[in-house]
Amino acid sequence: MTESEKESRSVAHAVAPSNFIRNMIAEDLAADKHGGRVHTRFPPEPNGYLHIGHAKSICLNFSVAAENKGHCNLRFDDTNPAKESQEYVDAIKDNIKWLGFEWHGEVRYSSGYFEYLYRFAVQLIENGLAYVDSLSPDEAREYRGTLTEPGKNSPDRGRSIEDNLELFERMRAGEFEDASYSLRARIDMAAPNINMRDPVLYRIRHIAHHQTGDQWCIYPTYDYTHCISDAIENITHSLCTLEFEDHRPLYDWILNNLDIASLREVSDLGKQDVKYVLPQQTEFAKLKLNYTIMGKRNLKEMVDTGVVTGWDDPRMPTLAGMRRRGFTPASIRNFCESVGVSRSESIVDMSMLEHAIREDLDRNAPRAMCVLKPLKVSLENLDEGHREILSLQNHPKNELMGRRDVPFTRDIYIDRADFEEEPPAGFKRLVAGGEVRLRGSYVIKCMDVVKDANGEITELKCSVDKDTLGKKPEGRKVKGVIHWVSASEGIPISIRLYDRLFNVENPESKDIEDYRDCLNPNSLIEVTGSIVEPSVLNESASPNFQFEREGYFCIDHKDSTENDPIFNRTITLRDSWSA
Ligand code: ATP
Ligand code: MG
Repeated sequence: MTESEKESRSVAHAVAPSNFIRNMIAEDLAADKHGGRVHTRFPPEPNGYLHIGHAKSICLNFSVAAENKGHCNLRFDDTNPAKESQEYVDAIKDNIKWLGFEWHGEVRYSSGYFEYLYRFAVQLIENGLAYVDSLSPDEAREYRGTLTEPGKNSPDRGRSIEDNLELFERMRAGEFEDASYSLRARIDMAAPNINMRDPVLYRIRHIAHHQTGDQWCIYPTYDYTHCISDAIENITHSLCTLEFEDHRPLYDWILNNLDIASLREVSDLGKQDVKYVLPQQTEFAKLKLNYTIMGKRNLKEMVDTGVVTGWDDPRMPTLAGMRRRGFTPASIRNFCESVGVSRSESIVDMSMLEHAIREDLDRNAPRAMCVLKPLKVSLENLDEGHREILSLQNHPKNELMGRRDVPFTRDIYIDRADFEEEPPAGFKRLVAGGEVRLRGSYVIKCMDVVKDANGEITELKCSVDKDTLGKKPEGRKVKGVIHWVSASEGIPISIRLYDRLFNVENPESKDIEDYRDCLNPNSLIEVTGSIVEPSVLNESASPNFQFEREGYFCIDHKDSTENDPIFNRTITLRDSWSA
């Protein structure tokens, strides 16, 4: 972590607002509910890349642990091998480190507990609390009932314990086809909460797993796995999002129906002399953000169908995309802290996220000059080989960020938009016969406009007022200041101007047939032939810059080549979306 990141992180922590989870943990500690321990976990399923919503959960889990001198585990919730992969596992680990968090000990995998999970399932069967069912998935759906009607018992519900044990063993041994049997908890088919109507604990799936290979052909369900994994890791507070609220009774049912001594025995703290308390699930509202989509299914579809260039496309709400776009970890942490944690669902405005990165970069990104659409200016009253090194402050409000050398030569580039032959009222930049100041340099005057056969302006011939370096010109006011780059020493680069991917607030709303109909056609504008001052490409250069008057930019490490450096626009200087 850089010094400035450390600083903004500690600032964020210093002002960490209380929320109902922080309050609950404080109360639990005061009541000595968990023997003084706070242990959380972040449990991603490796079936896609992490997005900004996951960042909220990561920040919450890791910070409440750190604030209480506790621990936070990283556990891959990998019970559905059909959709998971090692690529996702690696990307998720990388993203969490990048965000600035360190998980406790080794990376955990639910699949690492498959043997225990199996043994606990046997325990449930032995206690008459689980049975092997032969209903097909369709039949099982029919028997489940509805919100208003109770379900029906499966004909297999009364199978003897011996038969259940034998069948379950044979399921594991690979004797049966996919979906021919399942293991179900024996709870209550008339329970008002559908999750309690004999939920499935195990399914047969003859498919290899990214961690366990061909070892298993039966896989435990999320609900069965999650609570036991939490108990094995001695998690005290199992924080998850609101859609799991209705699953909490099942979470508790499973743990309460297992033999606590055998749970304790296989747990991390094992035989240590600590208070052994079962984990407790608490739900909070998901982060929702407008002008974007966060459903993993749609994100994956956009990747697979080429709507974007990959999970790390800088327009994606993924951490990989945001990183490539130039978001800093601190800006994301600050954003997550500022949206808060509560139990009420609300939609956060994209401008809040954009504000967080603008604020961070305004404070921490050095300034530099880049001419996006160059127009050549020759300074006629300088010698052909004129070269002068000007020293410019890297940050207007922070001298500690130092100065840099900027070469000033006879031929320079300014931006095409900074010259008008027929200026609109109030135009403060360069006009024929008019004057303007070059940032950190001299005042120049436009003497002549050169055009080609088509009447296009190809060059401006100007003169320099040599008595204006760091000084106001004598006897007149020059209002405009524009950026510029030396023509002979500036470096050509390509630029990718990114903007929001969607142009409607809720692309996933029911009123919209296909989210692809609301893609913002200007979410990426590619500009070639831009010219940047050489300091930007120094090896020790900052990762982020404000290109003066243009926005915040960073180099694209993926697509840049030595001959064609590419810069991504992270964000514009001002919000252009607010009405
Ligand atoms: P799915 O389960 O559909 O694959 P998911 O987004 O829930 O998608 P997980 O990998 O299960 O993905 O999520 C890991 C953790 O992140 C979970 O604890 C989940 O509750 C949390 N999480 C996911 N989306 C958000 C969000 N938008 N805001 C806050 N937390 C989230
Ligand atoms: Mg999930």
